[in-house]
Amino acid sequence: MTGLSLADFSLPLREPLGTAKGAITSRDGWLVGVDRDGQRGIGEATPLPGWTESHDECDETLRDLADSWPGVPDRETPAARHGVTLALHDAQAREADVPLGRHLAGPDAPVADSVPVNATLGDAPVAETVDRAESAVDAGYGTLKLKVGVRDPEEDVERIRAVRDAVGAGVTLRADANGAWDYTTARDVLVELAEIGVEYVEQPVPATELGALSSLRGRGVGVAADESLAEYSVREVVEADAADTLILKPMALGGPESTLRAVGKARTAGVSSVVTTTIDGAVARAAAVHVAACLPGDRAHGLATGDLLAEDVGPDPVPVVDGRISVPTGPGVVGDSFDSLVWDG
Ligand SMILES: [Mg+2]
Repeated sequence: MTGLSLADFSLPLREPLGTAKGAITSRDGWLVGVDRDGQRGIGEATPLPGWTESHDECDETLRDLADSWPGVPDRETPAARHGVTLALHDAQAREADVPLGRHLAGPDAPVADSVPVNATLGDAPVAETVDRAESAVDAGYGTLKLKVGVRDPEEDVERIRAVRDAVGAGVTLRADANGAWDYTTARDVLVELAEIGVEYVEQPVPATELGALSSLRGRGVGVAADESLAEYSVREVVEADAADTLILKPMALGGPESTLRAVGKARTAGVSSVVTTTIDGAVARAAAVHVAACLPGDRAHGLATGDLLAEDVGPDPVPVVDGRISVPTGPGVVGDSFDSLVWDG
């Protein structure tokens, strides 16, 4: 038997998520099953407005492909492409009886057993931010990410300074401005953050301002490109010298393999990468953990996103324990534990 099977899902979010196209209250997508002569593989396509094709476009692409199987969706529909290419890699990895990370990295490259993840502290006032930071450190997180840019820049600096004072020098701090600042504000804030000790700021200025991002580098705080990668290709961002670090979302990049290619392209130019999700379901989240395990170093990734969902497609195969996620050791992404959601028997 050969073919493409689809199982749609709608996963309510704990809190509405603001996107470029308005607030959403659920993550809607498909588990994508491929059957290659009896060898099954599962992927996930969970489009996110602003980052991928629309839900309707993804739906149409997957349905057309199911009718004309086999094939692979093109880069214009990265979520559909993610679902299908992940399922194909899962099938190959299961056939070879190796975890997805080992399959993607090849037999000789190092693959981590676990990856550290950052805690996200949101944009609460100073006292609450400090409480959240202390709870996260107590729970084992070694890297904390604060949302900035919603409050006055002075208040954001005060929040970060208060967290640094509370958690000490051994904890890595990151900030994410989601493009909120203009160049001058960003430059002034970076001076203060350099003194406090902050690893990087994600998207200090708007996504399209690659020249400003480039000018903000080299000031003692890393510059990370996130939303810019929804506007430009990895190559364009790297060639513009716009970032020290790329925030890579496999769902937006068209799958695990294209994500690792982006990592390699960036690394050649001396740019590091951090893997995160588009707040995906368990299958895509587990796949992103495998991808992160293929990256060098022991740097925190943005993969602690399962808790943002009020419901998931199944039990979490990649829970956070002591600030780390263990990479699943079974064949493929998560073995056959989600097969019953796609196939009846
Ligand atoms: Mg970000």
